[in-house]
Amino acid sequence: MPGLTERLLYRVAKRWIAGYSLEDAIRVAHDSNDRQLRVILNRLGEHTPDQKLIQGYTEEYLKLLDRMQTEKINGTISLKPSQIGLAASPALYEGNLLRIIERAETYDEFVWIDMENSPYTTATLKAYREILPSHRQLGVCLQANMKRTETDLKDLISGGGIIRLVKGAYPESAELAYKKRSEVDANYLKLMTLLFEGGGRFAIGTHDARLIDKARNLAKDRKRDFEFQLLKGIRDDIKPALIEEGYRVSEYIPYGPEWYNYSKRRMRERKRNILLLLRSITG
Ligand SMILES: Cc1cc2nc3c(=O)[nH]c(=O)nc-3n(C[C@H](O)[C@H](O)[C@H](O)COP(=O)(O)OP(=O)(O)OC[C@H]3O[C@@H](n4cnc5c(N)ncnc54)[C@H](O)[C@@H]3O)c2cc1C
Repeated sequence: MPGLTERLLYRVAKRWIAGYSLEDAIRVAHDSNDRQLRVILNRLGEHTPDQKLIQGYTEEYLKLLDRMQTEKINGTISLKPSQIGLAASPALYEGNLLRIIERAETYDEFVWIDMENSPYTTATLKAYREILPSHRQLGVCLQANMKRTETDLKDLISGGGIIRLVKGAYPESAELAYKKRSEVDANYLKLMTLLFEGGGRFAIGTHDARLIDKARNLAKDRKRDFEFQLLKGIRDDIKPALIEEGYRVSEYIPYGPEWYNYSKRRMRERKRNILLLLRSITG
């Protein structure tokens, strides 16, 4: 039985995650599909060199793809490289990633790769570049807070890469990353403009109303194969509006017992979320 603190935190976290199990994820995915949202399912877990855990996460993604197929879920999966082997060795990671992609391909499904903190960036992009030519249904996330991203983005665009652009969720040093919100937002806009000008297929992963408006404007003049991606439980007001306007919208839905670190990240992003926590304790 979890302790009181964990139970209270879980009550708040539930708005951002589907629950503990794969079946919770499938249930919530149906619910999102019913609201015309595509889904991106993610099994929580990261930064593990433990071979048994890595194997377990890999098997779970295979099972998840099978279940999504039988349940006719409209959506895809997103995984973290350090969850399926990159924290142990690049070869292990690539082997597991290939197994997952090949299973997804049998269902004509797509796979997204999340971007983690800076020690993993180079290896994540190297594997992506290597695998992409023979597996086109594969996309990778890039972070606008990172100074290197403009170079990475141009490089991926020229190689036909499929990019999800986000602001970046990890604390990074000033040497590697823009630290001021205004700088990150300006870089996001610059990179998003590059995607609208030259990118093939891409995703705008933000809840920032100002940037979403800019994307709407950029989309007016250009017919682009892009979608908006937002996290479960955040800016739920904006999702139906975008669908109504005819945009493709995906909801990123994490699940798994490792919900605590993910929820901490969401808390950090917005002080008001602490109020939610306090309210859950009092109410
Ligand atoms: C689909 C998707 C996939 C992602 N994948 C990755 C990844 O692979 N790697 C990575 O580093 N990061 C990833 N992120 C997280 C991202 O980097 C940001 O940390 C997160 O999206 C918050 O930034 P923002 O763009 O929404 O802008 P912010 O400036 O943080 O927020 C803009 C507005 O959105 C709302 N908002 C934002 N966060 C919250 C919150 N927690 N609670 C309530 N309201 C909120 C508020 O209205 C806020 O004013 C992903 C985000 C999305 C949407």
